Amino acid sequence: MADQRELLGLLRRIDGAGYGAYKRLRGSWRFPGFTLHVEHVQGDPFASPSRLRITVPQEVARFPPELFGSRPRRVALEDFLVRALAREIPKVTKGKRGSGRSGEFSVVDFGQCILPRTAVRVSEEGVEAIISCGLPAAGRRVLGREAEAMLLSELPELVRRALLYANLDPTAIRRHVECGEDAEALREQLVGQGLVAFVAAGAVLPRASGVSDRPLRRGAVPFIPPASLAVTLERPNSGPIRGMGIPEGITLIVGGGYHGKSTLLSALAQGVYNHIPGDGREYVVTRREAVVIRAEDGRFVCGVDISPFIENLPNGVDTKCFSTQNASGSTSQAANIMEALEAGAKVLLVDEDTSATNFMIRDERMQELVAKEKEPITPFLDRVRQLYEEHGVSTVLVMGGSGDYFEVADTVIMMDAYRPRDVTARAKEIVRKYPLKRRPEGGESFGGFRARRPDLGSIQPRTRKGKLKVQGSRLSLRLGNYTIDLTRLSQFAEVPQVRAVGYLLAWLAEHGHELRANGTVGELLSALERRVEEEGLEAFLPARYGDLAVPRRFEVAAALNRLRTLRLRDARGCSKTPLQAARPRGGICHEGPKTQRNQFTTDDTEITEEFKEEDR
Ligand code: ADP
Ligand code: MG
Repeated sequence: MADQRELLGLLRRIDGAGYGAYKRLRGSWRFPGFTLHVEHVQGDPFASPSRLRITVPQEVARFPPELFGSRPRRVALEDFLVRALAREIPKVTKGKRGSGRSGEFSVVDFGQCILPRTAVRVSEEGVEAIISCGLPAAGRRVLGREAEAMLLSELPELVRRALLYANLDPTAIRRHVECGEDAEALREQLVGQGLVAFVAAGAVLPRASGVSDRPLRRGAVPFIPPASLAVTLERPNSGPIRGMGIPEGITLIVGGGYHGKSTLLSALAQGVYNHIPGDGREYVVTRREAVVIRAEDGRFVCGVDISPFIENLPNGVDTKCFSTQNASGSTSQAANIMEALEAGAKVLLVDEDTSATNFMIRDERMQELVAKEKEPITPFLDRVRQLYEEHGVSTVLVMGGSGDYFEVADTVIMMDAYRPRDVTARAKEIVRKYPLKRRPEGGESFGGFRARRPDLGSIQPRTRKGKLKVQGSRLSLRLGNYTIDLTRLSQFAEVPQVRAVGYLLAWLAEHGHELRANGTVGELLSALERRVEEEGLEAFLPARYGDLAVPRRFEVAAALNRLRTLRLRDARGCSKTPLQAARPRGGICHEGPKTQRNQFTTDDTEITEEFKEEDR
């Protein structure tokens, strides 16, 4: 392997040459204490930056094995090192020097969560980190001297400061690692305790602003658990901790407007992830299988059985295999629930703020005016208990606007000036005092739900030219020529997870058969999940990328379900419908050969736009 002196020689030789000369940097270079692997060299100074992989052997890095002895510890340590790199980069590098991204070092972006990421790996052998680097240029000429400063002095200094245990704050590392492990342990106790979530005393739930996930600093009221719901759980590193346990079953969060209901629910939604020390929600944990359910009108739906909630639509559409390019508020919310169940959800998190009213309630007077035969919707109110009793799926529901839910609730928590109170007894008293005259509309049973088998070939991750294209943002995931709308999915912790979902879907499209899964959505997700756990995200990537974080199975499913080219493999039970006739290019299930599969690839425009056009 060539060493750093040879790298220096090369940089001096290519100084002033055309930018393409940087390609000669590809390969591995030995430095004192670490190895630099130049994995990818950008084509020009404006292209996405070059990718460097650094490996430091453990004899040099010297991380004590107990810091990465268990999976939660290793994940937290790796997360800590990503943050250390991000913190040190502006301190030890000069930054922009030349055209385009010349001179810039960066690591993956991250938020408040401790997530398994591809940017840093720690093992018994050593530490590996992936860093982006804009190789410097003036115009399109190599700036060899600047590259020399970047690669031969800034980079070694960065490695020294951020990747060697001796130069990091041991107390901060320990705190980070223990925090991650403690949160994981708390979450594991939930099932045994009959809980769906736990909110520690003293937790700070409100965020700095509507666009920031950092804690509110001034005026935040720390969480105080009501005595009747208080439980104490164990932490392996920091001992017992008291907090509010939210029991399985149906839990209502009530209270006046602006009293902190939605804030509590959002904290529960994010409680499926571990958080960094100081976040305020470090010890707010929710079962991993908790899924936020909301209305999402306009979304695409492919062959979902929404019949427990919607039947007898006016156009005669079959709701046992419901497809649309443009769902209504209530049908979208029904589809969101059924898809969550299909993906394995055990807890539904619902906020009235983002729900369709007619999906949530139908009161006595409305029953009187609009006969049941004229109303396709069976409100959630009449299904929520069945979901729990027949399928073991709990619901936590923010509902400040209707007392009808008192009837079906097991626990009622009132938020009162940001303080939770257990008002279950009082709510039950009110139920006795003012009995509901409305008629339940749910019938005997929720019934089962159909397992869909997606046609993996209908996921098209390549552009027309055959190039694999995955691009993620807060709002959308671009896969091949198509854009998946993610604006209303709130449980992506960060963009790197979105990108990971893109690569997982792309992999499913092209290698899904390798999973030997039987092909239902649930089976595919389980097989994916297992493989990610065993082999890491790396197993799904075309190259060693450092900008991904592991998503949950529910977010993978959510993206797949919103991909407007999705088709199902078998359509048994799906009948031809007027909708299908009216929108022949919709995501309708179809039988037999994949006749419609490639029709979208002939058109580069975004499918969303295309259908808006058509609807007008
Ligand atoms: P609701 O859903 O009950 O109408 P929100 O949860 O939206 O209320 O909260 C209203 C406002 O109060 C938000 O600006 C939120 O950040 C703030 N808030 C919520 N919880 C707290 C708290 N514990 N301490 C201080 N402010 C809070
Ligand atoms: Mg609210």
